[in-house]
Amino acid sequence: MYIPKETIDYILDRCNIQDIVKNYVPSLKLKGNNYVGLCPFHKEKTPSFTVSASKQIFYCFGCHAGGNIFSFIGKNENLDYPSSVKFVADILGIKIEDSSKDFSLIDKNIADAHRINDFAKRLYAKYLLSSSGKKAYNYLIERGVSKESIESFEIGFAPDSWEFLLNKLSSKKANLKLAEEIGLLSPNQKNSSKKHDKFRNRIIFPIMDINSKTIAFGGRIIDEGNPKYLNSPESLIFKKRNVLYGLNKAHKHIRENKRAIIVEGYLDVIGCHQAGIENVVAPLGTALSESHLKILSRYCTEIIYLFDSDSAGINASLKALSIAENVSVDVKVAQLPELDPFAYMQKYGIRDFMRIVDCAVKPVDFRIDRIFANLPKEKMMEGLLNAFKVVKDLQHESEREIYLKKTADIAGVDELSVRKDYARFSANKHLTAVSGVKPDELTKDDFKKRTFRDLAALLCNYPHLIQNAVLDYDFNSINDDFLSKLLNIMADMYKNNDKIAVNKLFDFFKDDLELEYLNRLFNSDFKVEDPNKTYSEIYLSLKLHGIDEKIDEIAKRIKNSNHDDNTYLIELDVLRREKEKILTYQHG
Ligand SMILES: [Zn+2]
Repeated sequence: MYIPKETIDYILDRCNIQDIVKNYVPSLKLKGNNYVGLCPFHKEKTPSFTVSASKQIFYCFGCHAGGNIFSFIGKNENLDYPSSVKFVADILGIKIEDSSKDFSLIDKNIADAHRINDFAKRLYAKYLLSSSGKKAYNYLIERGVSKESIESFEIGFAPDSWEFLLNKLSSKKANLKLAEEIGLLSPNQKNSSKKHDKFRNRIIFPIMDINSKTIAFGGRIIDEGNPKYLNSPESLIFKKRNVLYGLNKAHKHIRENKRAIIVEGYLDVIGCHQAGIENVVAPLGTALSESHLKILSRYCTEIIYLFDSDSAGINASLKALSIAENVSVDVKVAQLPELDPFAYMQKYGIRDFMRIVDCAVKPVDFRIDRIFANLPKEKMMEGLLNAFKVVKDLQHESEREIYLKKTADIAGVDELSVRKDYARFSANKHLTAVSGVKPDELTKDDFKKRTFRDLAALLCNYPHLIQNAVLDYDFNSINDDFLSKLLNIMADMYKNNDKIAVNKLFDFFKDDLELEYLNRLFNSDFKVEDPNKTYSEIYLSLKLHGIDEKIDEIAKRIKNSNHDDNTYLIELDVLRREKEKILTYQHG
């Protein structure tokens, strides 16, 4: 369903987040400027869940959940974005006119989309078993996939043709536009009224929802070629973050075992099921999300994420797993010492494979172990700093105690000094200058990013300063995509409305990491005595930094040129004077 931006703004303008949240958080009470209560997203005895009536956002200092009213409802009611908007609108008695489509049409499209996918699935499966599919079939058999698995997972093959599926769909008078929308056909680059097959020369893994309806496809290339995996795009029937490959088969085994194992690839899921380990699923070409964990938590009490030995998505997934503290399941992590699950099992057997699964540890143990694994001595301080970041995110003081001790043990450092360093670290809002690490060890990029982050935090908390900032900075030149996007949006908002509505900012960000970043910006206990003064300080220090960069640059050029060049020297002199002037401002 499409909801126009104006409607969303209209709803946000008429909504009081605290009134709606109160229904979900009975303990919510006004305390100072904010409402505070027990968090609905994690278990706690002392309230750390906060609602800001002035900003119209919520944030939990325990589990870091946060956002505007739509995020709150989405999380509580397990709804996607448009449905949360509609939900809030219903509460407020606002009627949403869906301007683009009417509902009966959507229902019909969903049914048709499933039918088209089913048709394609059967066609691809038949092709794999035909003589023309021999090469793909042999490839699967060589990889160790059994005949039975090919059948039961309904694996298929899309031939190397632009019109194989297109012709069959046309002859069945299928809705080709819909087939394009769900990603089976692509528009022709030169003539967009013409279409062609999207999956070509690929092994096809049909992706089912929990009811075994075909909602998407994953296509793996068998020869050289890119991308290695091609997945259906998100569509009216396919939302990646809500789907796990294999769940339609795995869910009853997950329930029986009270445990789910998550692996990274389609073939790994198939390999495990084939070997009789049937409580196994995989996310679809994306990092694990909190909603994946929520879905699994309906079936089990323990989730084990098994990383490949060379996993690329390890950090993103660990992030999601740490957020998972709000989900009422035990989440653990393990990593194979070599290969991927399917290949590992074939080489070493099921028992050895399960031994690794059974040794899974909590994500925080895994993260700390990883930080110090193979860390050279001279980087120990950096290691400690990274471990502190992990420790700081923990919810409970007692946990922090345990992991500080663990950190000291692993790093081979005296526990007391680790504690002292951590105390200093956690007292410092900017999280960078721990004793032992000198600021000049930070790269210049770090300095700039950090300062722009300070600027963003200042602007978020004192929005009137944006009118200076739009004149002083080119936000596009910031070397940090998130900050650049955020500051540009704030500038636009200011230009259009003369003010910044924090709750509306949240709607520009969908990515979990970005949202978390945004939450932290708005909810840090950022307070300064004199915002204007702080603004000038930041301005001057960035200016100074810019001059230093230019001086370095020119010094380098002088060094590289063989003869003395006066123009460089003059430039250098101008810069140095400018620098002195700023320094006197700063200290004056
Ligand atoms: Zn919480």
